[in-house]
Amino acid sequence: MSFTRISEIGEFALIDRLATLIAPTESQLSTLKKGIGDDCAVIELPNGKLQVVSTDLLIEQIHFDLLTTPLEHLGAKAISVNVSDICAMNAKPLYATVSIGLSNNISVEMIEQIYEGAARVAKQYGIAIVGGDTSASITGLVISVTIVGEVDASKITYRSGAKAGDLICVTGDVGRSFAGLKVLMRERQTMLDTFAENPDMDKSTYTADLSEYQKAIEKHLLPKARIDAVKFFHEVGLVPTSMIDVSDGVGSELKHLCRNSQVGALIEESKLPILSETREISDEFEDDGTTYALFGGEDYELLFTISPNDFDKLSSFKDVHIIGKVLDASSGVKMRDLFGTDIDLQSASGFQHFTEEEDLFEDDDDAHDHDGHDHSAHNHSAHNHNEHNHNGHDDEDEDIWGERKN
Ligand code: ADP
Ligand code: MG
Repeated sequence: MSFTRISEIGEFALIDRLATLIAPTESQLSTLKKGIGDDCAVIELPNGKLQVVSTDLLIEQIHFDLLTTPLEHLGAKAISVNVSDICAMNAKPLYATVSIGLSNNISVEMIEQIYEGAARVAKQYGIAIVGGDTSASITGLVISVTIVGEVDASKITYRSGAKAGDLICVTGDVGRSFAGLKVLMRERQTMLDTFAENPDMDKSTYTADLSEYQKAIEKHLLPKARIDAVKFFHEVGLVPTSMIDVSDGVGSELKHLCRNSQVGALIEESKLPILSETREISDEFEDDGTTYALFGGEDYELLFTISPNDFDKLSSFKDVHIIGKVLDASSGVKMRDLFGTDIDLQSASGFQHFTEEEDLFEDDDDAHDHDGHDHSAHNHSAHNHNEHNHNGHDDEDEDIWGERKN
């Protein structure tokens, strides 16, 4: 048997290969409307409604760092990111299971804190946590959530329905979560330096100073699924033509929508909702806030398209921005920058902020080449990146998805 490293083919090609293997099982379920390829799988129910199902995995040191992540927030985030995938189908979340892998440095009280956070937001979203699984883990804390929701067949929204002429919309603001991550990683470094300089200090008494940039940090640690937007769509009878949640950045998600809908798009940099706090942080790190918005990820806002005829229906929802227009596939996927130049978002090299010199993930002692590809690992690689520096695991050039680190 040959040994192909995962990094040689990347996350997407891997999932494609797995999709081929599981396709025969999908065809056994005659009620399956959508298997792999959207935010949720979609199954027809006997009552004519559609059931939507999604699962997401959070792994210590890949997706979160316990030094900078309050456990309550972690539990809440595990639920919210799954609810977000249900929202992306324009569906209502109903129930979830939560499974945990536990390393021996985790106490009973710590696990309870995770569940307190999960239960708190589950209550807010109106969903029940109905079970799960518990196991030991030798590689740190693992949390896996599976979530089920429901939607009328007439309201389901896939990634694939965008048509030329549709308006491209995004809820809330974007780029802030990645800005928060940058601040958290800097604070983590300060903590590690302090511990190294004071080996005898009681680590439990050290509290991180996260008073600055609260909004960005909160967005990263405690993202909220945009169930309010879905509720609004249902209330006003608006069905977006396509929708996806923003886990990997607006630019990445737009490419998914366009590929699945076989259309092109033009968005405008000036229309991207980027808060001044996000810009302040990106300036401080000598990065570009637009890059955070396009490829930073973990905002968990909704990116969707509507028919221009539905513009009036959308107008009473305040927390949404129209950022561009759907075009024919031949137009490509582009962003008109502040100077009026159309930048190709398909190829990372077309985007000046991704040149060697101005890499989003570059800092003084290490650098990632960011290729702008749409995969969820890239902002996590900021964590890996940090680990990489401080744990001395410098023998690998690439992370598991093929992100080059130097
Ligand atoms: P999202 O970012 O919305 O959670 P992902 O990028 O994780 O979506 O997944 C994209 C698609 O690939 C989904 O339809 C998901 O169900 C499927 N998928 C991802 N990993 C696997 C896997 N290991 N086996 C089968 N399907 C997978
Ligand atoms: Mg998603």
